[in-house]
Amino acid sequence: MTLHPLWGHEAERLMLARARQEGTLPSTLLLHGPRGVGKQRLALWMAQLLLCESPEEEPCGCCHSCRLTLGLQHPDLHWHFPLSRPKGASGDRLGEALEKERSRVLEQTRVTPIRFVHLASPFGIYLAAIQTLRRRAQSRPSMGNEQIFVVGNAEALVPQEASPEAANALLKLLEEPPTQTRLILTSSEPGRLLSTVRSRTVPLYVGRLPGETVKRFLEKEAGVDAATAGGVSALADGSIGRALGFLPDDEGVVPLEQLRLRALELVRASLSPKQGDAFALALSFAPTGGRSLVELLNFLDQAIRDVAAVAAGAPERALNPEIADLMQRAGSENTPHPTDAAKCLAAVERCRELARGNVNPQLLIAGLTGDLRHSLLGKGQSPEGSPS
Ligand SMILES: [Zn+2]
Repeated sequence: MTLHPLWGHEAERLMLARARQEGTLPSTLLLHGPRGVGKQRLALWMAQLLLCESPEEEPCGCCHSCRLTLGLQHPDLHWHFPLSRPKGASGDRLGEALEKERSRVLEQTRVTPIRFVHLASPFGIYLAAIQTLRRRAQSRPSMGNEQIFVVGNAEALVPQEASPEAANALLKLLEEPPTQTRLILTSSEPGRLLSTVRSRTVPLYVGRLPGETVKRFLEKEAGVDAATAGGVSALADGSIGRALGFLPDDEGVVPLEQLRLRALELVRASLSPKQGDAFALALSFAPTGGRSLVELLNFLDQAIRDVAAVAAGAPERALNPEIADLMQRAGSENTPHPTDAAKCLAAVERCRELARGNVNPQLLIAGLTGDLRHSLLGKGQSPEGSPS
């Protein structure tokens, strides 16, 4: 099996290919933009173009180098991404254990290139992995003229604010990159990168894909029927990665649908005239594992934007089709003003920061719904000690 073709991002491809032809391609790039739009796939495309034996504005796709790259087996392409920390490994062993885990994930990607990747929070890019990367960067390329290092989801270099060691180790490489070395970082949260790392990379924004592109990808690459592809692409918000999370897995579970509905429950409880609804919802969360809330909060951002769209009289702009009905049924006397949503988004962002610090989810949700009620309904001020 090989990687699926890159879909969309034609303008970015053309720009990168021309820069390569003109010799002006920066040696360190940061591809940033929404999650799941194909930033790492674009980085791998770039690597393929750089390693191709007869490149033009696209890699040829059939030379030995292209075949190795598409099979994720090119010795001069090194693709790093967040991994779960192997249990019981420390010191020198940790580096080896992480390399083993990386090989396992690469093999999984080779066998099942199209699959939903849940980025759960105990994943990180650890110091030991960056030390491995740096050692390799000091060696000469095996086949071609250069080595390419892709670091996907680079914000995981700093899993928590107090642990920037991996990011600092990468910074040393960015400060004095060995010749014949290129680095391509990708991130959907570039604000979480160290500013010193950001300032040493050339940023390129990679935006959402048109809904039609996501739909065609699902039909052609994932073998989804046209009707399902249409419904899923409407929820995908221009992200193929997100669209894949709205397809049922082997057990028939639709991973992102659960999160989407949970986010709508949070909005419903925040709009309810009965404050008890919000507390009951908070208590339905587990008392530990705050980091697992981060992805839910990303869905809550979207649901709040939808509230703003409906409040502004543009329900057709809402991504969640249930939102207008939900607001009507909430039964509160006050209708939220569109600008209230901005305050809500700030509250969600504060909550997300606390969730990364692994605060008790019940407390976080109780505090958050208090803040949301305060902004949306002008009441239900958050209890003491809450995130606000
Ligand atoms: Zn080629």
